[in-house]
Amino acid sequence: MTRYLFLLKRNPRLLKRSPFLPTHARLLQNIRMLLINKHFLLTRACLLQNIRKLLTRTYFLPTHARMLLLLMAIIVPLSSCTPGEEKLKEKADRIHQKALTVDSHVDTPLWLTREGFRFGERNGGDRSRSKVDIPRMREGGLDGVLFAVFIGQEERTEEGNRKALSEANEIMDSIRSTVSRYPDQLDIAVSPGAFRNIEKNDKLAIFLGMENGYPLGREVALVDSFYDAGIRYITLCHSYNNDICDSSTDSAEHDGLSAFGEVVVARMNDVGMMIDVSHASDASFYDAIQLSRAPVIASHSCARALCDNPRNLTDDMLLKLKENGGVIQMCILSAYVKTPDPNPLRDSARKAVYEKHGNYFELDDLGKEAFLNDWYKVDVDFPQQLATVADVVDHIDHIVEVVGIDHVGIGTDFDGGGGVEGCFDVSEMGNITLELVRRGYSKKEIEKIWSGNLMRVMEEVQKTSISS
Ligand SMILES: [Zn+2]
Repeated sequence: MTRYLFLLKRNPRLLKRSPFLPTHARLLQNIRMLLINKHFLLTRACLLQNIRKLLTRTYFLPTHARMLLLLMAIIVPLSSCTPGEEKLKEKADRIHQKALTVDSHVDTPLWLTREGFRFGERNGGDRSRSKVDIPRMREGGLDGVLFAVFIGQEERTEEGNRKALSEANEIMDSIRSTVSRYPDQLDIAVSPGAFRNIEKNDKLAIFLGMENGYPLGREVALVDSFYDAGIRYITLCHSYNNDICDSSTDSAEHDGLSAFGEVVVARMNDVGMMIDVSHASDASFYDAIQLSRAPVIASHSCARALCDNPRNLTDDMLLKLKENGGVIQMCILSAYVKTPDPNPLRDSARKAVYEKHGNYFELDDLGKEAFLNDWYKVDVDFPQQLATVADVVDHIDHIVEVVGIDHVGIGTDFDGGGGVEGCFDVSEMGNITLELVRRGYSKKEIEKIWSGNLMRVMEEVQKTSISS
């Protein structure tokens, strides 16, 4: 029965699709749907609205039957609301604490080298700033995280490539030194097995991923070196095209993967490194999926059907990802979750920051600091209307509807722009689980979303490598 109600809730189009049923059966479905609709439980306004709907849709019934329905409409949600909500929270908490949880994409390494930042202390407080540290990971019940070794795209020259590589090495060093500073709390993870052991020892796991294949330059052998250094995925590109492939936010240059990109993808398969298609153009995505012998991931992307942004995956791409056995890790960067309302004052203030300072990634340390101060001031002066946890879970619902429960996970993009109302930093991760529980997801399904699917892909990718 629960399963049936769950399905009904997930399929509001069911009524339209059941014209062959007799009117009373369709009516019954309709009523059940109204009674269990999540909005019913949320506000009084919604409740009243739904009662109105119920009355207008049942006008042909005799008055006493409509009165009975009305009573049911009030009693059922209320009885499952007040004490139910508490129970729901307890259940969500239990599931969240027990589940092995991992976030596949945060840009926290950007903070590690900043003056005064201590990963072992609770930072934040100011709503615009850092989103991930040890105390807040503990509060949010997050067991592991993939730190992005992120290199912004600059000149594709020998000098540019050399600089990107040395920066990548510096970032990897900063991650390792952070982990060694907290030996009782942190450990580097390189496989699902290692992750489970780290969690058993009550430590937090730090995986390494690389956002943008730019540091590879034109040297495919570096894939091997990065793998040996612990990197477990490479996001093929970032916001601009590189020598590997076209970006989703740049104009077509290679029409997908370049010839060098094809070699990179093949080598990543060989060594057992995950191919990350977030940020890649649609053509690059299809090329990578077609070429890869192993499942691929989108480490931080959403569903384009719900938010029309080139960074998100269309339903067709989701289906291809399913065929490939891969996983899309739901990003919680507000603009990818929900198209923002126009905010011209904020837009022009942000533009002014670029005009004043230039490209952030080309600035020296002092320049970067000044850029960020002005950037954060825009958030204070012209706050952004953020998407909510419910919007995030709408994407998860959609992905599950299109490709099933085995191909979705979480990759917040915290410290890289991620954060929504209700899950603004890592300490609030439990709210995603609460919303999933509220919508009827089972413990097993939630465990798949929180790590099961990504760890399955990582295992398969490592198994497909030629060394295994
Ligand atoms: Zn990104």
